[in-house]
Amino acid sequence: MRKFPKSALAAFLLVVAGVGSQVPAAEPAKKSPGVDVAGMDKTIRPGDDFYGYTNGGWMQATVIPPDRAVYGGFTVIEEMVSKRTVDLIQEAGKSPAAHGSPSAMVGAYYAAWMNEDAIEERGLAPIRRDLDAIAGIADRKALARVLGGGLRADVDALNATDFYTDRPFGLWVAPDFANPQRNVGYLLQGGLGMPDRDNYRNTDEKAVALQAKYRSHVAATLKLAGVPDAEARGTRIYELERKIADVHVSRTDSVDVLRANNPWPLADFPVRAPGLDWGAYFEAAGLSTQPMLMVWHPSATAGIAALSGSEPLDVWKDYLTFHALNRASPLLPRAFAEESFRFYGTALSGTEKPRDRWKRAISATSDALGDAVGKLYVERYFPATAKAQAEAMVRNIVEAFGRRIDHLEWMSPATRQKARSKVATLYVGIGYPESWRDYSGLKIERDDALGNAQRSETFDYRWSLSKLGKPVDKREWCMTPQTVNAVNLPLQNAMNFPAAILNPPFFDAGGDPVRNYGAIGSIIGHEISHSFDDQGAQFDADGRLANWWTPEDLAHFQAVAAKLTAQYDAYEPLPGLHVNGRLTLSENIADVAGVAAAYDGYRSAYGKTPDLDGFTGDERFFIGFGQAWRSKERPEAVRSQLMTDGHAPGQFRADTVRNVDAWYTAFDVPPGRQLYLAPEARVRVW
Ligand SMILES: [Zn+2]
Repeated sequence: MRKFPKSALAAFLLVVAGVGSQVPAAEPAKKSPGVDVAGMDKTIRPGDDFYGYTNGGWMQATVIPPDRAVYGGFTVIEEMVSKRTVDLIQEAGKSPAAHGSPSAMVGAYYAAWMNEDAIEERGLAPIRRDLDAIAGIADRKALARVLGGGLRADVDALNATDFYTDRPFGLWVAPDFANPQRNVGYLLQGGLGMPDRDNYRNTDEKAVALQAKYRSHVAATLKLAGVPDAEARGTRIYELERKIADVHVSRTDSVDVLRANNPWPLADFPVRAPGLDWGAYFEAAGLSTQPMLMVWHPSATAGIAALSGSEPLDVWKDYLTFHALNRASPLLPRAFAEESFRFYGTALSGTEKPRDRWKRAISATSDALGDAVGKLYVERYFPATAKAQAEAMVRNIVEAFGRRIDHLEWMSPATRQKARSKVATLYVGIGYPESWRDYSGLKIERDDALGNAQRSETFDYRWSLSKLGKPVDKREWCMTPQTVNAVNLPLQNAMNFPAAILNPPFFDAGGDPVRNYGAIGSIIGHEISHSFDDQGAQFDADGRLANWWTPEDLAHFQAVAAKLTAQYDAYEPLPGLHVNGRLTLSENIADVAGVAAAYDGYRSAYGKTPDLDGFTGDERFFIGFGQAWRSKERPEAVRSQLMTDGHAPGQFRADTVRNVDAWYTAFDVPPGRQLYLAPEARVRVW
């Protein structure tokens, strides 16, 4: 479902911005097993504002903590998981684990992050080697070598839909579009310090103000590092980034896989994208033995390569110096971290103060040693009973989805059969992966926070390279168990539901199962339907990029999609700023389909259930759904989300119930209510 873009920048924001300030109790107070009645506002009519009806009380009572840009159901669980994780890590630290064992690594990574004195004392020493390498660039070949050596596996186009890297290019290793049995490398555009090309190109007052703040941030960071002429260099760095932004492909076009299907033999790069010494680049990146790479953004690849040949070498060196410092800032002396937060935390996200250091340390440890932390987490917090219950729910919803396909009037038998085989071969991972990743060989030191971070990034990159050309493991996970999220992996025809999202308010093993179906069940349905949405429908049962729809079926689907696009284009979260119906289309289709499949799953499992808390089963199902999307966001965060996030704001996700017939019956919604849609205007995809 991808609640948050898991980009390097987002991870970074998570590090500097993020979670609430008060240390929460490890476990939430035991509440009613049903819906959150106090969080509702029953003075609002559900047919006018379903989000307000289900969440009005919560919206009134909730204040976004000063260290958060967004606060909602996901945040509540993240807080709890952070607290649980820090306890586990501290326990791991106390028990005498063997040096180099996963739990010793986890303990050391966390300890190094927390050791501010050591970070302060070492100053720029941990990054000196990188800065010297950049300063030593004498010609274009050396520039290509440094750029290639800096390539990391820090993007993920289809699973995490993470298109952001601050490096000029990012690598994603994944199954080949044409031959999903083997892994290939996908090369994506990158190189910006702000999240999107539009941050550089927009000319409205807010955008121009942010551009000025970013330029000051670049200069301030250089000045802190003692770089002379910081202002003038900052201006030139900004101009280079601005040129990179101009050759970037838009976020909306980036999600179009048909534009991304560009296998380039390595030998073609100098011809198709001249300007960069690709031979030197690939050698430094460890890619020179690959027969080909998939080029996700061909025009941007050519554009960035051209800039690497045409822009003055000194400007590139300044640019690389700034980005090395900027990337490292959270783990450099305090002045760097504070400057970084001023821009990324406050200017970009509206956050007032940084997250507590221990929470940032937990996030960072969890990112770097995901499976090691995840194994500790599930052993303690994800009992077999919860796994079994969630698996049963998944089975029900997958079956319900299959039945919906059987009963689609518009779908031709040929397409239906292919869709059914896609359902049949789906792998659904619940809680944690089938096997754990091995971290042996990764060096983690208790007094080297930045070195640990860099070594773990390199370790991850080498691990990704080691998969190139190898057979694909369909059951490999792309999320850690302690991640509060869920994901569909189209090239593997697979889904992951990490243990951490299987918590209240989404899932309560001891709670009202009907509410569970409305909340996590709809999320499960959402992920299933991604296999069949505007993007997933382009991959067949084996994960191959193949058009398995008849032209008539595709035309019907596109007409329905256009209706949903228009429905979302009309939403206006901030004055003058609308939701982008096309950018959010996949997620909006998944939301409609997910709630419909979960509703069928609940009805087939429980039929008519007794009332609880004064609500019928159907009411609880939909209220559970609406409450899963509760979220308060700062306006800066909303602006950023509307530009780069494939998801609409939570309010509109909750309101998608207006497309579901059963919702009208459950709440007795007559024509004339604000959310009312005539039956023929409701969007039914699956
Ligand atoms: Zn999704």
